[in-house]
Amino acid sequence: MKNSLYDIIIIGGGPAGLTAGLYASRARLNTLLLEKIALGGQVNKSERIENYPGFENSISGYQLIQNLEKQAKGFGLQVETGTVTEISTANNHTKIVKVTDRELPCKAIIISTGSEPNKLGVEGEENLLGRGVSYCATCDGAFFRDKEVATVGGGDAAVEEALFLSKLVKKVYLIHRRDQLRAIKILQERALANENISIIWDTVVEKIEGKQGVESLALKNVKENSTSSLKVDGVFIYVGLKPNTQWLKNILPLTEQGFIQTSSNMETSLPGVFAAGDVRNKLLRQIATAVGDGSTAAFAAEKYINSTN
Ligand code: NAP
Repeated sequence: MKNSLYDIIIIGGGPAGLTAGLYASRARLNTLLLEKIALGGQVNKSERIENYPGFENSISGYQLIQNLEKQAKGFGLQVETGTVTEISTANNHTKIVKVTDRELPCKAIIISTGSEPNKLGVEGEENLLGRGVSYCATCDGAFFRDKEVATVGGGDAAVEEALFLSKLVKKVYLIHRRDQLRAIKILQERALANENISIIWDTVVEKIEGKQGVESLALKNVKENSTSSLKVDGVFIYVGLKPNTQWLKNILPLTEQGFIQTSSNMETSLPGVFAAGDVRNKLLRQIATAVGDGSTAAFAAEKYINSTN
């Protein structure tokens, strides 16, 4: 720790937070990044990222974060583990970041707490978590080698992870509630052409069944109003993400879905408090847009600090 008053405290260490840290540290600002568990967030779950510019042959989420961490720390970014419970404004433009066991003063704050997977909310999901129910194919896929599994959802994540699993497991059933995938066309084409993936259309999971582990899924075809049972050893759930902003409910105005409203310069309604990445209300949630947010937030925070000195 360099001194007790930080220039910037960044909350959350995914691509947005780490990029903000890289830019702020390179601007010679005394910057601390606080991360709850491990750097990377949702990106760590991506086995293969092929749409982040500059990596012609793709890069894994883990490797991208390792590179970004080294790069940012190389310019002096300080990283600590800590769960932030509150932020507030003191006098003279000083802001306070409350971590479980301490209070940290700073001149500006960047919130980049990212998002977490939505739950399906069906019976068996919680009980069988870690025993066949998973939200991360990259982390748990290898446990299902030569077994049959299902993925739930029709977005980029469900289709991308079904494709990843199809190389490991005997069979992947992709269960989607409509008759059209939401995922981008290139992923749709790959899934439809993959002999190891069977798409179960117009269907929802009503229950996840099993004693020691997942044994089957109780399914309902929503068009025909018919039910069936599907034998699988694992189920990977990808039904969207929700922003990690519950702790900000009484501090900042949030959208109905919990996203933070910002200006195009990443400013929130609280002067000196910025937001970047998946937590922000915006059109496109990608690593490419997260790093853009992070760099803009750091630059805007620097300008804010200079204007208040
Ligand atoms: P998403 O795009 O919000 O898609 C969620 C999917 O789950 C949709 O197909 C939705 O169905 C379905 N769904 C939602 N609630 C459901 C429920 N209760 N029961 C059954 N199905 C349900 O979420 P995502 O795929 O997790 O992606 C999140 C963000 O990350 C997106 O912005 C995405 O583009 C991005 N992402 C990008 C990449 C990449 O670029 N390579 C990879 C992964 C994620 P409907 O279609 O009927 O609404």
